[in-house]
Amino acid sequence: MLNEKVALHTAGPTPIPPQVAAAMITPMINHRSDTFSQIAKDVAQKLQQMLQTQEQVYVLASSGSSGWETAMVNFVPAGARILNIIIGDFGDRWAKANRELGFQVESLKYEVGTAARAEDIDTFLREQEGSIKAVCVQHNETSTAVFNPIREIAAVARKHNALILVDAVSSLGGLPFEMDAWGVDVVFTGSQKALMCPPGLMIIAANQRAWANAEQARTPKFYFDLSVYRRDFDKGQTPHTPAVTLYYALQAALTMLSQEGLKNTYERHHLMGEMCRAGIKASGLELFCQDEQFASDTLTAVKIPAGVDAAAFRKTALKTFGVVFAAGQGKAMKDTIFRIGHMGYMTPNDILLALATVENSLAYLGYPIEPGRATSAAQQVWLAYLKRQ
Ligand code: PLP
Repeated sequence: MLNEKVALHTAGPTPIPPQVAAAMITPMINHRSDTFSQIAKDVAQKLQQMLQTQEQVYVLASSGSSGWETAMVNFVPAGARILNIIIGDFGDRWAKANRELGFQVESLKYEVGTAARAEDIDTFLREQEGSIKAVCVQHNETSTAVFNPIREIAAVARKHNALILVDAVSSLGGLPFEMDAWGVDVVFTGSQKALMCPPGLMIIAANQRAWANAEQARTPKFYFDLSVYRRDFDKGQTPHTPAVTLYYALQAALTMLSQEGLKNTYERHHLMGEMCRAGIKASGLELFCQDEQFASDTLTAVKIPAGVDAAAFRKTALKTFGVVFAAGQGKAMKDTIFRIGHMGYMTPNDILLALATVENSLAYLGYPIEPGRATSAAQQVWLAYLKRQ
């Protein structure tokens, strides 16, 4: 068999469309040219649409993690007390980054598999009597496949005069996001997930409330100093050499997404999420997310059934059936869950393949499962969706 044909169902990088791959062989241009400025402006404008914001959107050559640092060093007073909302490994990592950067980190930690609750944050902030300057939260916690109610959390942060900074690395392009309407002060994402691009770009936007803090945000910075990106923005320029090839890719991907239309993009992701969850449950497996209303539409975390070796399962899925799933993240979850990515350049057909692979791999390993149940349940979800159209 053609064993190099592999379907990527990881949590990112995700598959990229041929149009995006083709865009990357566009010949190199002078990044100080009008041609580049036009691309940069077009990309920024399409990103504004995606984020539903009037604010400027900056694109930096760095990975998603740099969003944590960039948000903090530009908009939060140096050394301030801040709150990290933690519902999984990425929440932990952001809190760690904030401690390294010299902030006084408080945290609200939730059991993995659950989402944060705005009421708890409200109570916590009230008790702190205005001393918390920023609330840091993931929109989608990739390690657990659970998303947080950002609109509600943002409202609470604003009520207590704290900035709300949102990591939308594994949500933007897959889950609805409304920066201005929700009152989000800073949001950032990465190129390699629902935006259907290779890794390497971090995208960030901030509103006036965030910029008003810039003077007091004196944590040392150089490459991540957004004020210099802001200075060059109107010219369609970046202060440092931009990742021109990745700009070509991002422009091609955003063009495809804008042709699909935001509403349709989110509907497609929701359909894929519903299909995946229905399939997993129908096969007798268990979702990791404890409350399905917060189950992510960009990836699904599934409990490894008793008696199955997690590594052997993933190895079988890849070596025998040609599908890559993501392992659980961090020591605690490595052997207890696996994750099925379904964001970006994916369609409902990809979900059928992923579910068939889950069943095939478990059956192949001798686990008592009836192949066909998961795919059949997912097909029913798909057909019911089509009938409603
Ligand atoms: N935040 C979230 C929610 C993520 O899923 C990831 C990566 O998967 C990151 C941050 C870090 O991004 P990167 O690995 O691109 O640095």
